[in-house]
Formats: sequence, C-alpha cells, structure tokens
Amino acid sequence: MTHASKLEMFPGCFAAYSTRADGSMDTPEQALAWVHIRTPSKNGTYLHLEHGTTVVLDENPAHELQGDAIISQQINHALLFRVADCVPIALFHSQSHTFGLIHGGWRSLAGGIVEKTLNQFLRVSHADPQEICVWIGPSLRSCCNVIERDNPLSKLPEWKSFLHIEKNEKTSVDLQGFCSAELAQAGVSRVHIKDSGLCTYHNPDFYSYRHFRREQDQSAHGRIAVGIWMNNT
Ligand SMILES: [Zn+2]
Repeated sequence: MTHASKLEMFPGCFAAYSTRADGSMDTPEQALAWVHIRTPSKNGTYLHLEHGTTVVLDENPAHELQGDAIISQQINHALLFRVADCVPIALFHSQSHTFGLIHGGWRSLAGGIVEKTLNQFLRVSHADPQEICVWIGPSLRSCCNVIERDNPLSKLPEWKSFLHIEKNEKTSVDLQGFCSAELAQAGVSRVHIKDSGLCTYHNPDFYSYRHFRREQDQSAHGRIAVGIWMNNT
C-alpha cells in the first residue's frame, strides 16, 4: 500500500492524499477531519468543485469556498478537495509563500483552468514562471483513460497530441501530459514539474470512479482527499 500521508514535494511545500486505507472521503467534513491530523495548523479551506474554471483566492481564513482552483498565501493552512480520478495539480512558489491547487477534470482543463490559474498565481505571487514548482497527483492516466473516439476533446486542436487512437474505435487521453505541456508553454521549467505517476484506476490503493463503473467493482467506489500547504522554510 502507498501510505502517502505527507510528502514534502519541494522544500517547505507539502502535498498529501488519502488512500483506501483512510476510507472513502464521502463528505467535505471527512476530508477536513483527514487534513486536520496532517497539517501543522490542523485546518484548511475546502474547495467545493464545480467542473468549471473559477479560480478563487483564499484570503480570509475561510473554511469552504467554491470553484475549481484555489490560491493562498496562508502558511500552514491547507487547501483541499475530494476527487475520484480527476487530476490534482499543485503550484508552489517558495519565495512568496504562494500555493495553489487546481482540479483538473477534463471539462475544467478544456476550459483553460491551468492557464487561468497560473496567470492569477503570477499576479498574486509576482513570481517568475521559472521559479514555480508543480506537483501532479494520483489520477486517471492514459493507461486507463479510454473514451469513445468521438468525444468533445477530439474537436479541440490543442488536444490533438494528447489523444491517442486505439485499435477498437477508442481513444486514450493524457490529461497529465496536457497539463504539463500547458505549464511548460507558459514558462514553467519541466524540471520543476514533479508528476506522481500514480494511476487511480489500476492502483488498488485508490478509489476510482472509472474503475468502479467499468469493472462494476464496488470496492473502488469512493473518493480520495488531496491537500497541500506550505510552511515557513
Ligand atoms: Zn492506469
């Protein structure tokens, strides 16, 4: 089992995700209780996801906000949400203690959430894109993200390199590759993009909505919590 209760991704930059060992995070309260035992300040701001492109700033110590990306400069205060296959993308800038968490579902990604969040992140942090560190969390990967050949992404030219035609009228989608390429194009250094490489579908440590639906495997039905924070390092 992967017990990634807390990972220091870059100096002073932390990311954590729950596994099946923690149980399914069925409610925001469960995710907040989970992050409570992992963060120094024992609290965080929970983001209610909308599958859109709204980026919110966590300026006051709010405990719940709505959108698909959140940016904060509150040290030791976590940002968190719950996912079941979608891509969690974390941005960190050490010098300004700015960090952000993006919900990379295909709708949000196709809507431009990565670019939108990065632009806002640069405004808040005054960072140079080359100074930003990125972490891509456990999520549905191209090995298992197979969809019909006729899908909404196939009509978008910017997705062409990230859709791979399979033999059986199916297409596999590389959401993580799309995210990395978009960040790199905006000036983020490739060596600062740390991808966990973990696939939620075929790794039994994780819940996966696609696994549950396709395999009719009830044990895969659940959500994982993802939280990030920074300390004063
Ligand atoms: Zn997989």
